[in-house]
Amino acid sequence: MKAVITELPDVGITVISRWVFNCYVIHDGGDGRALVVDPGMRSTARLAASMVTDRPCVAVATHGHVDHVGGMPTMRASGADVVLPTRIRDYVAGETPRSPGLREVASIAPVLRDQPVSIPALVDVARSGRECGYDGRGVRFPGGADHWIGDGDEVPGAPAWQVIQTPGHTDDSTALWNPSAGVLLSGDAVLSVGGRAWFTPELVDADLAAATEQRLRPMPVRYLLPGHGRAVVGADVMTHARSPQDRPRRR
Ligand SMILES: [Zn+2]
Repeated sequence: MKAVITELPDVGITVISRWVFNCYVIHDGGDGRALVVDPGMRSTARLAASMVTDRPCVAVATHGHVDHVGGMPTMRASGADVVLPTRIRDYVAGETPRSPGLREVASIAPVLRDQPVSIPALVDVARSGRECGYDGRGVRFPGGADHWIGDGDEVPGAPAWQVIQTPGHTDDSTALWNPSAGVLLSGDAVLSVGGRAWFTPELVDADLAAATEQRLRPMPVRYLLPGHGRAVVGADVMTHARSPQDRPRRR
């Protein structure tokens, strides 16, 4: 299955999806440069890079899992500035990252079932992830980052976007917020199922996740663009969001 391209013209964002894997192209990050968020595999990274040829773009990951950064070397090769959450620096220095186990991964099955499965996408994630990302086999970030981002920072080269640390799914989990447009790129902190946001139950730390939920819930989000699942648009996106323990029923 080829990538599914969805345009969000009101906010100038293109969504490149393969199965549940989303890569976002923000055509103007606030000073004319494009911002590519979560180039998770080589194919989506190539597509994203081809959409932003006029000026070198900024490529940023919401966390270091292979399905969010596997295409980062492709972005770097295209001339992009690579921007990563600061916690990844500790992982590169030798700290072992915490990742959800199989039981936790299984808990997001409703998200995985919400869109038609693509085995080629899985294969592409696995292949791309050998080059960049962390998983059970280790930590691989060749070349590190051009910039490291932490809570309260502006995204370098994309001043319309603020960094919010959102630990819980992992310790490096990060969301990007555009207050003037009401757009939240939530990474894996908030997913979506059946048109409704869902604070992920796929966690390494329930206490940190609860604090993240408390912080994100009151935000005036009009566009929730999750790491996995379709975009959720509307005035009450966060009020209607499910909590981790509130599991969608099987349809
Ligand atoms: Zn993840």
